[in-house]
This record gives sequence, structure tokens and C-alpha cells, in this order.
Amino acid sequence: MMFVSISSAFALSNRKNCCSSSVLSFRTHPESTHCSLRRIELVERPTHRSKTRDVPRQLPTFFRTRPLRFRATRSLPFSLAPGLSVVASVRSGESVEQILESFQQVKPHPDTDVVVVGCGPAGLAVSYLLAEKGVQVTCVGSNPATRWIPNYGVWLDEYLPLGYPLSCLSKTWSKTSLYLQPDGRNLVMPREYGRVNREAMQIELLRRCRDAGVKVIAAEVSGVTNPPSTLSSASSSPESKGEAISLVQYADGSQQSARTVVDATGHGCKLLKFDREQSIPQQHTTYGWSVPSSQRDQGVQVAYGIEADVEEGHGWDLDEMVLMDFRSNFLSSEEEQNEPPTFLYVMPMSKTRVFVEETSLVARPPLSFDWAKKRLYKRLESLGVKVTHVHEVELCYIPMGGDLPIVPQPTIGFGGAARLVHPATGYMLTRALSAAPPFANALASALLQKPQLSACEVSQVGWDAVWSVERRREREFYKFGMEVLLEMDYSETRIFFDCFFSLPEWTWHNFLAQNLRRPEIIQFGLRLFISLPNRIQLKLMQAGVRDGGPALLASLLAP
Ligand SMILES: Cc1cc2nc3c(=O)[nH]c(=O)nc-3n(C[C@H](O)[C@H](O)[C@H](O)COP(=O)(O)OP(=O)(O)OC[C@H]3O[C@@H](n4cnc5c(N)ncnc54)[C@H](O)[C@@H]3O)c2cc1C
Repeated sequence: MMFVSISSAFALSNRKNCCSSSVLSFRTHPESTHCSLRRIELVERPTHRSKTRDVPRQLPTFFRTRPLRFRATRSLPFSLAPGLSVVASVRSGESVEQILESFQQVKPHPDTDVVVVGCGPAGLAVSYLLAEKGVQVTCVGSNPATRWIPNYGVWLDEYLPLGYPLSCLSKTWSKTSLYLQPDGRNLVMPREYGRVNREAMQIELLRRCRDAGVKVIAAEVSGVTNPPSTLSSASSSPESKGEAISLVQYADGSQQSARTVVDATGHGCKLLKFDREQSIPQQHTTYGWSVPSSQRDQGVQVAYGIEADVEEGHGWDLDEMVLMDFRSNFLSSEEEQNEPPTFLYVMPMSKTRVFVEETSLVARPPLSFDWAKKRLYKRLESLGVKVTHVHEVELCYIPMGGDLPIVPQPTIGFGGAARLVHPATGYMLTRALSAAPPFANALASALLQKPQLSACEVSQVGWDAVWSVERRREREFYKFGMEVLLEMDYSETRIFFDCFFSLPEWTWHNFLAQNLRRPEIIQFGLRLFISLPNRIQLKLMQAGVRDGGPALLASLLAP
């Protein structure tokens, strides 16, 4: 078996205005004989606000054509020009099962520092980052060998700085397009988009966990008993400080103690407490489910997608992914006026293979999959796209907005469980992967450098890193964005997005990435409002009055 350990210098970026020389260090695991470096690419990233360099370009280097073989430690001197990142990938040919097998050799920790529950992207990323800092981590998944289901899509300028290899993307497109005009014209944006290779990403994260010494186990967590809740170190008992005192209960009756527990169980969110009771919508209505009153302010993104072979001549440009096709000319005017708006999301994979998904961006109550499926096939027919074979069906159900878990509480949430999903877009992957390092740093330093902290104080540190007061205020704005979208019909939604994507790039980039800070939120909100036609401005004001707009504004303006 081949082990490859990559130093953190592997993913580098130079944002400064001067050239700098750096050294890339590669370390092979002591047990390995050799490994083959597949490629190193220098990738020019656009600085979000740059006007002159807004087209990302991949700059191939000689490494790309000459695979590098090396033993033990190798260092490569190289120069990194401003705005360049280095992304490298290593071929190892291991499968999920092979990596999981190697976890058997990792000794279990009976009293571990942290139990992370969930082997999705959020749980694995946090686990390996904590372990790299020297924290003892057990990562538990109901079935870690199960292949991930979602077809994740990412913006390349957000993905590349995270330091994950390009080989974790199965395809990239140099342009993204939007159909927002009734006459069918599309807006083409020179922003690169990628489709995550789910299996490669899962292997990459599992491998990082193994190399960092995480113990990954297959088990169902049935509950967690936390120590009595007190955030004051003065009032917590001396015995509780620095000790493993949360008890993780497994479905087979066994249990494990840990100093702290991270719930990364996804949107189902098994272990966290909410002010209002959580429950999954079940009752069917005309278009789908109805949402129980406890989650009245939650919306849901529903999409029905297929990875399919189609007859040649599907008409989509292979270098352009379609983020939103909001054309509605395949509907009768009555349907267009009375039915909820949906759009088509298209990843053209080849001349005869596509991933297409009919998406309800957000709805309350959510649309049913059946309904979205019918609309998908109706739209494909109108586009003249003939499906010859369906390889895979994706049923996408993403709860959006709604309440945050109680912050803080003894079990810390991360990823979908902590509601990191964007309340107005349903995206979360790059947000979670970029939030993981600061979260792991904060938690690791609380656990390792401040042994005097009680369990509650440690969880407070973790929650502050996930949902600081500032971040919670900002989330209210994104939630308001969701409420506005819920109000609009087909034509209003088109106009809204036309205005949205006509704003300066940095504003909508950062809105989509949940990266607008408070002063920018106000600037963004004003710019968007001014650019909208009167009837949509009116809707926005009505939504503002109904959904706590004045309170939101006061909170955004507060010092
Ligand atoms: C179909 C679909 C498509 C999506 N597409 C995108 C996209 O294109 N871009 C994007 O940014 N986001 C997307 N999302 C949203 C979001 O990024 C994903 O939901 C993401 O997988 C959430 O990651 P996570 O690690 O928090 O949770 P999950 O990926 O859901 O992982 C949770 C893990 O916890 C385990 N688990 C649950 N309960 C227990 C328990 N009691 N004991 C042990 N283990 C347990 C589960 O088995 C699972 O492995 C999509 C979501 C869906 C559903």
C-alpha cells in the first residue's frame, strides 16, 4: 500500500504584489517505496475585486507533462508570481474500502479528545484538521464506505484556494451561463465552475484522516450525554476540567467518552438542540410536502436531476455550464403565472452525456420530486434533447434558512448540521471546507493549550468559530434573501436575477459565498434595491415589513 503525506506547503498562494520564491516539500510516508506525482499546476486566481484580471487561466508547467517520481523527501524550488496558487495531486490508486481497511491498524482511543459524528465532507475535513494539530480524533459514520450521493458543484475560484487537488474535480467549465431573458438570450460569465468527483474527494479526505491519525469507525451514534451545562469556569467542578466527560452512545449499546463531540451528521442533524422542535416535513400537498409549524420559516431546495446519455446535438456548449436556465416558454401562460418557478441546471459532460437538474431554488412548502421530474422532461422535450439512457437519478432535498441550533450548546455543530448551508442558494461545500481550518484551529488550541477550560467553555470556543455573533447577524440577511425569493413568480425571479448578476462582480460573488461583511451587506442591499424595477422593490419592502426588516436593518447598522 502506498502512503503519501503532503506538507501544508503543497497548496500555496501568493496574494502579495511581489514575486516570492518558495519551496514545495513532498514527504513520502516512511513505509512507502515511491510515489508518482501526477501533476502540479499553477493556477491564476482572480482576486475578487480585480478589474484587470477577472478571467481565471490555468498555466500549465513542465510538471504537467513530466510526471515526477521521488523517494523520501524532495524539495522543489520555484517562484510564485502574484495571484498564483499551486495545486498538486498525487496518484495513489486506493479505493475507499482500501483506505478504510487501513484504519483497522489505527489504535482506538478509549478516551478520545474529540468524537466527530458524520463522515460527510464536513466531518472528515474537521477530523483530519484537528488530528493534524495533535488532537486525538475518532470520526464515526453510520457507514463510511457508502459513496457520497450529491453531485457537488463549486466555483473554481473558491475551490482552488482550499488546497484540494484538481483531480477531485471530474470536469471544469471555463464559462458559466444564465438564461434570464424572455427572448432566450443568455448571459455568459467568464467564471470557472467545476463538478466534484465525489469518490476522489471522499478518498482524498479519508486519506488525509488516515495520514493524520484519525480513527474512522463505522457505527450509528444514538445519543450524547454531555456534562451539566455551565459556561463559567469558576462554577464547574475541578474534576470536569480537561477530562473526557461527554459520553457518546452507540446503537449497539457501547459508549465512548470524549472531551467534546462535534455533530456533522448533515441536514438531518441528529444530536443538536433547537429552540423549536425539528421535524422532517411529511404531509403531501399539491406540489409536495407541507412544513410543520415548528419550521414555518424554513424553505427547501428540491431538485430532480439525471446523469444521462442523450442523442448527439444536445446544443449545450461543452465549455460552458448552465447555472440557471429560467426560460419558461415550454409552459402555458397560465402555468407560468400560477406554478412555482424552477430552473434547469446543466453540466454538459460530453457530446452525448449530460447532467441536468430541474431545480426549485427554494419553496415553502417544498416541491415534490415527481413534480420536478415531470417538469424536467417537459423542458428537455421543448429543448429537443432526447434522453437515451439514465445512468443516475439525483434527488436533492436541502433545508434552507430556518433556525440555527441553540448557540452555544455542549455538542458543537459543523457542516449541514450547523446550518452552514447558504439560506438563499443551497450551496455549502466550499463554505464548510473553508470554515473547517479556523474551526479546527480554535478547537485544537482550546483543547491542547488551555487544559483549564471546562467542557462547556471548549464548546463555546467551537461555536464561536462556527457562528460568531457577527456571522449570525449576517445570516439574517441571507435568510431575508430567501424570503424575498419565496415571494416571486417566474418573470419576477428572472428580473431579480438579471439585476443581481448585473451588480459588480465582487458583490454577487461574495453574496453567493456568504462572504459579505456587514458594511458590504448594506452596500450590496442598497445597490440591488436601486437596480430593481418598482414592482419588485415594493415586494421587497412588503417582505421587509412582514419578516422583521426594520429589526434586521437595525442589527446590520448596530456597532
Ligand atoms: C443532492 C444534494 C446535492 C447537493 N449539491 C450541492 C452542491 O452542488 N454544492 C454545494 O455546495 N452543496 C450542495 N449540497 C448541500 C451540501 O453541501 C451537502 O448536503 C453536504 O453533503 C453536507 O455535508 P455534511 O458533511 O454536513 O453532511 P452529509 O454529507 O449529509 O454527511 C453526514 C454524514 O453523517 C452520517 N450520519 C448521520 N447520522 C449519523 C449517526 N447518528 N451516527 C453516525 N453517522 C451519522 C451520515 O451517514 C453521513 O455520512 C447538496 C446536497 C444534496 C442533498
